[in-house]
Amino acid sequence: MAVRQIREIGDNLLRKKSRPFETVDDKARQLLEDLYDTLKVTKDGVGLAAPQVGVLRRAIVVDLSMEEENPQGPFFLINPVIVKQSGSQVCREGCLSVPGKLGDVTRPEKVTVEALDKNGKKVKIKAEGLLAVVLSHEIDHLDGILFVDKATEIFDQDELQEEERWVIEYSIYGDSRVCTFNFGRDI
Ligand SMILES: [Zn+2]
Repeated sequence: MAVRQIREIGDNLLRKKSRPFETVDDKARQLLEDLYDTLKVTKDGVGLAAPQVGVLRRAIVVDLSMEEENPQGPFFLINPVIVKQSGSQVCREGCLSVPGKLGDVTRPEKVTVEALDKNGKKVKIKAEGLLAVVLSHEIDHLDGILFVDKATEIFDQDELQEEERWVIEYSIYGDSRVCTFNFGRDI
């Protein structure tokens, strides 16, 4: 088990484009395992991309297996690409690399992602709702994009929770899950 340190906004590495893998070798598999181990020790993370642990390679892990309503994953993906997308949804997202902040981001409602799995086998994921958001968010990391670049409004998490405690009952996130109230709806 290798838990790696998560890079935070301001770190230039998070702004760089990651390189694809040519083959899924032991090094790629180790990276996926490390991403998963690192994600698991966060309190509420649901996804992590390699640049967030300082590695500029196209690998992500997404884990919605703890979701109550629609548990899915974990997904271990190498060279993930969105090949199809449709619709739109606005979510309040957070990110393990942007601690304490949330933002409202418009994402596709549905995405089809192609990638390679741990064994180098081609996989296709048809995702909608929360899973579509997390996949889009994590794939953005591979191109140096953070949710704050796309957010129409950015909030301080503590203040928001203080002010809106009464509506915090529906869950949402990006790669740091927080509770908020507008998932999948227009704000
Ligand atoms: Zn993130």
